[in-house]
Amino acid sequence: MITADLHIHTFHSHDSTIRPATLVEQLHAHPYIKAVAITDHDTVEGLEPTRKLASVYSDILIIPGVEISTPQGDLLVLGAEEMPSNPCTVEDVVDFAKENDCVSVVAHPYREYGLGDLARNLDVDAIEILNGVSSLAANRRARELAKTMKLPGVAGTDAHNPEELWTVCTEIESSLCLDEILGALKKGSVSIASI
Ligand SMILES: [Zn+2]
Repeated sequence: MITADLHIHTFHSHDSTIRPATLVEQLHAHPYIKAVAITDHDTVEGLEPTRKLASVYSDILIIPGVEISTPQGDLLVLGAEEMPSNPCTVEDVVDFAKENDCVSVVAHPYREYGLGDLARNLDVDAIEILNGVSSLAANRRARELAKTMKLPGVAGTDAHNPEELWTVCTEIESSLCLDEILGALKKGSVSIASI
C-alpha cells in the first residue's frame, strides 16, 4: 500500500506559491506520503520540472495530472501528461480522460467551482470526498455523492501554499508505480485519511 496526496498546486498555478523544489524535498522527507499528483489549473507546465527534481530520489513518485476548469465546474484528470487541445465542456474532459487512460475525479463538488449535483450525470471514475481546504459540510456532501454514485472516494489537500501540504491523504492498494496506482483508483482500492 502507498499513501498519496492526489491534489496539489505548484506555482505554475497562478494562485499557488508552492515551489516544486520545496514539494519534492518535503515529499522525500515525509515519513509515509510518498506520491503526489501535480494538478495545476489548466496547465501541465509544472510536471516536467517537478519530475526532474524528484528523479534523484527512488522513494517518491510524481503522478501527472491537471485540474481543468470547465464552465460547469472543476475536474481533476490524473495521469494526464497534456491538456485537451480545445476549450472543454465537462463532458469533453471526461471523454479526454477516457481516451488517454486517465482517471477523472470530481474535485470539491460542493465548493465554489465545484460541479455539485451535475456530477451525478457524468461517467467519472471517482469523487474527491476529502478536500483539505473544503468545509466539513462540503466534504460530507461529497462523501454522500460518492456513496449514491457508487464511486471510489479520494482525498487531496488542494494545497496552494506550503502550510496546506500534508493535511489529508489517500491510501492506495498499489506499489509506487503509476499504472498500478491509476488502476487501483479506478477499481476503488482506496481509502482516505486525515493527518
Ligand atoms: Zn485545486
